[in-house]
Amino acid sequence: MDSTLPPPPPARPPAPAQAPTVAVIGAGLAGLACASALAAAGAAVSVFDKGRGPGGRLSTRRVDGPDGPWRFDHGGQYLSVRDTGFRAVVDRLAAAGAMARWDARIVKIGAGGTVTDSPAERFVGTPGMNALVKALADALPAPPRWSLRVLPPERDGDGWRLRDEAGAPLGRFDAVTIAAPAPQAADLLAAAPDLAARAAGARMAACWAGMVVFERPLETGWDAAFVAPEAPGGDVLGWAARDASKPGRPAAEAWVLHGSPAWSDAEVELAPEDAAARLLAAFRTLTGADGAPRYLAAHRWRYALPAAPLEVGSLWDAPARIGACGDWCVAARAEAAFVSGEHLARRMIAELGLSRSAPAPVSRAP
Ligand SMILES: Cc1cc2nc3c(=O)[nH]c(=O)nc-3n(C[C@H](O)[C@H](O)[C@H](O)COP(=O)(O)OP(=O)(O)OC[C@H]3O[C@@H](n4cnc5c(N)ncnc54)[C@H](O)[C@@H]3O)c2cc1C
Repeated sequence: MDSTLPPPPPARPPAPAQAPTVAVIGAGLAGLACASALAAAGAAVSVFDKGRGPGGRLSTRRVDGPDGPWRFDHGGQYLSVRDTGFRAVVDRLAAAGAMARWDARIVKIGAGGTVTDSPAERFVGTPGMNALVKALADALPAPPRWSLRVLPPERDGDGWRLRDEAGAPLGRFDAVTIAAPAPQAADLLAAAPDLAARAAGARMAACWAGMVVFERPLETGWDAAFVAPEAPGGDVLGWAARDASKPGRPAAEAWVLHGSPAWSDAEVELAPEDAAARLLAAFRTLTGADGAPRYLAAHRWRYALPAAPLEVGSLWDAPARIGACGDWCVAARAEAAFVSGEHLARRMIAELGLSRSAPAPVSRAP
């Protein structure tokens, strides 16, 4: 636990006769951390996500290239680990083959192209970033339901009713967890206006992600770089990474190019092909890379990272039994999403009278 967060309240007996039902909207790292802890404590948990599969902002884009699949970690790039609870999960995921250390040459590039090494312990999902989210989803007693965009929960007596965007009922639940990025969480919390207002206060910055495959390996001398605004190309680029330098990736010369927060926010309405061209031009300025790329595309993350995280751990309305979690409740990094999900789960376990709280086992589907 991050010691700066307010502690959740102590557990409250007695346990209910029937397992309480909990809906978790959002199967990213935060939602799955919350769902895993609740399920391990004995709740009947249903998880819904509008995405086609696991990942959220830790997604991997797969493209069928002429010589095999190309994969791009186009969202979160790596995880750093400070929290002891998260360290235990990372160790289990690594033992299951879903995560590994990323030991590559990662640098900072500044004014005039000066290069400084940036060594640190960094972890990635294997064979793609989404593998760690998939492993957590696979370990749940009931798998998440994908491709379901959930409408704001509606009050029903002392519980909640959920519907999908076509209006089809998804069930009635004793409690609800919202685990979506802050602006979407604010919409989903329409029936809990106090929480909605707090979620709306956690502004999130955009990020354009370019994905490019080059014909031949580039002679950069480094595998990934934080690009400062004063660096060549730094007016557009914030980060560049060679995907093949991560463990278990295809050998193709595939790069992920992230726009800087300032440029991405200013150009958030660009057409994807224009964003891709701007990112590639900036990367050429940075590295001198030439030749026509074999593949070029861009993805817009409208809500990439919290620019003003709330630093509250999680949000929870005890009488109404609805709460929210996500990186935006703690800090701008993936580990914070996990910490927030577990923080909310501890509050819910106490309030719902659940007693068991062993961490869910982590397995990896074949
Ligand atoms: C470009 C980029 C680069 C990043 N780089 C790093 C990095 O290098 N290191 C790092 O630590 N972190 C990084 N991050 C941040 C990291 O990815 C996030 O902190 C983390 O993945 C957030 O997890 P989450 O569960 O809070 O949210 P998400 O992963 O966003 O999960 C929320 C889920 O809610 C679902 N959802 C939303 N609305 C609905 C609805 N109405 N119905 C159903 N489902 C819904 C979404 O589909 C999504 O799957 C990066 C993020 C981005 C985008």
